[in-house]
Order: sequence, then structure tokens, then C-alpha cells
Amino acid sequence: MKLRYVTIYMALAVLVILSTNILSQTVKNVPKKGGLTVTSDSIDILGNKIAIKIYENTSKRTPLIFVSLHHNERLGRHLAKNAIEAKGGKMFEVVSVESNRLLRNVHFKHAGRELCIDPNRVFSEDGIKATLSYSDFGEGCENVKDAEAIALTKSVEVVNAIRAFQVKLLSWILPKTKNEILVSVHNNLKISLDNFYDINDNDEFPNNEGTYIAHTDLVNADKEYNHDFFMVSNNSLFAKLVAARRDKDDKQVFSIAVQKENPNEKKGYLSTFCSRNGHNYILIEAKHKLGEIVEGHDQRQKDMIDRVFTAFASQK
Ligand SMILES: [Zn+2]
Repeated sequence: MKLRYVTIYMALAVLVILSTNILSQTVKNVPKKGGLTVTSDSIDILGNKIAIKIYENTSKRTPLIFVSLHHNERLGRHLAKNAIEAKGGKMFEVVSVESNRLLRNVHFKHAGRELCIDPNRVFSEDGIKATLSYSDFGEGCENVKDAEAIALTKSVEVVNAIRAFQVKLLSWILPKTKNEILVSVHNNLKISLDNFYDINDNDEFPNNEGTYIAHTDLVNADKEYNHDFFMVSNNSLFAKLVAARRDKDDKQVFSIAVQKENPNEKKGYLSTFCSRNGHNYILIEAKHKLGEIVEGHDQRQKDMIDRVFTAFASQK
């Protein structure tokens, strides 16, 4: 082969290699089908990188910011992701995985110990202290295992690190304008709207804190669907969710609770933080089984997410 051709072939080969590299670098930033981009980021807790995934449909703007705090509650997150891909919006997902198991709590290592927090209990000072001293995490969490671990969870550096996690997460997810709405997706095994006002409540949502008032858009003989409900931070959100019902024959009716003003913040819920600070917040709860989808409830949660889009997606 003549030298000239060898040179041309080599130049072509270099071009192919270069263009392949450039393509593989840009592929990460190219939207997936439907316009959903996925970005990976993290928040540091004492040298542990807590992964945060951000899904965004940049082709359709909506005022909806979804958040998935409990990683084992995959149904709501999955449904929200599909809805964002089709209709716009974005979602922040707190990732917690150990040995391929999706975990509810965020785990971090410090001073040779494995410590945990519930990521939905860090939105007040009392909440941070309470979740760090929670005694029933399981899952290898050593928070209250012995005196040394208890001392660690009470240390200023650990409390400060969890507060920094909260501040960073809020800087991403909180509405930046009065029209934006934070939408939190959760799944439950047993809680129901009854927990918000039943005087015989367990202590998960104690009525005596006066935290919630329950309105309802639902007259449903089937109590089963009481596990699937909205909770919103103000009456305007409630009214718009109800008004988005197509007509009086629309069968898609949902239970909706409205938070009272200034709910007690000692448990550190994101909902409480939003209510106390005047942010639009919608919680979408539905029943699931861990690792499984409960038939009927999956459709209910999809319908609830659709209702949020119907009510608010065109509002910029
Ligand atoms: Zn949850």
C-alpha cells in the first residue's frame, strides 16, 4: 500500500476514534426519548456521598417539582417519572441502596459506625435530633446500639451535617416562585386518611397535635382507598385539585387533607416545613407492598398524579 493511502487510512481512523469519543461524551447529556434527562448529583454527609438523581423534561415547562424521599417507595416515583416524561416537570430522587435493596432511610458511616436518618424527618431541629435518636430503624443502623453510638448521634458535628444535608436538599427542591408546587410522592403499608382525624389514632399522626384538618372530595364506600390520599399545604391547592375534577360524574374522586396553619414541627416532616414557611406542597400517598405493586392502588396513584397535572401544569 502506498504511503499516501496509509496516511489517509490513519487519518480516517483517528477521525473515527475522535468522533466516537465525542459522541460517547455527549450521549450522557442527550435527552432520552420523551425528553427526560437524568442527572446524577450527590449531597455530602460527613464524607459519605448521598446520591441524588434529577429527572427533568426540559421540553415542557410546568410549575411542578416532584420529590421522592423514601427510596423503597418505588411505585409513586415510577409513576411520577412516567408522568414527567410525558407531560413535563422535574423530580429529585434521594437514592438509598445497599446490596441491591432499596432502603427507606439514608445511611452514612461515621467514626466506624453506620448511622441512619429518615430523610423525611430532617426538616426541623427537633426532627433532626429525633431521627438521629430513633431506636427502631433496623437495616444495620447503629444509632442507639450502645453508648458510643448514642454519643455520636448527639454530637454537634453529626447534627450539623444532617442540617447541612437538609439545607442543600431544600435549596434544590423548594418552590422558587409563588406558582411553583413541591409534590412529594410516598407509598404506605397501612396509614390512611383516617389517621389524620381519628381520635383513636396511633401516634403516627396524632390528632392532639392539631396538625391536620381533613376535607374530603371523596364519598367512597370502599374504605380500602382511604390509604390513597392527597395532603396539601393550603386551601387554594385544595380548591384547585377539586375543581380539576372534570364534572360531577367524574368517578375519579380523591380524599384530600389540608394542613392547619403552623403545624407542630417537632417531627421534622417536609410537609410541616412547607406549611410553616408558606410553600405550596402536595403529598400524594398510595398503598403498596414493599417491592410489589398493589393492584388498584397503582392506578389510583397514577390518577392522582394526573389530577395534579390537570390542575396545575398549565400554570406557569
Ligand atoms: Zn414515604
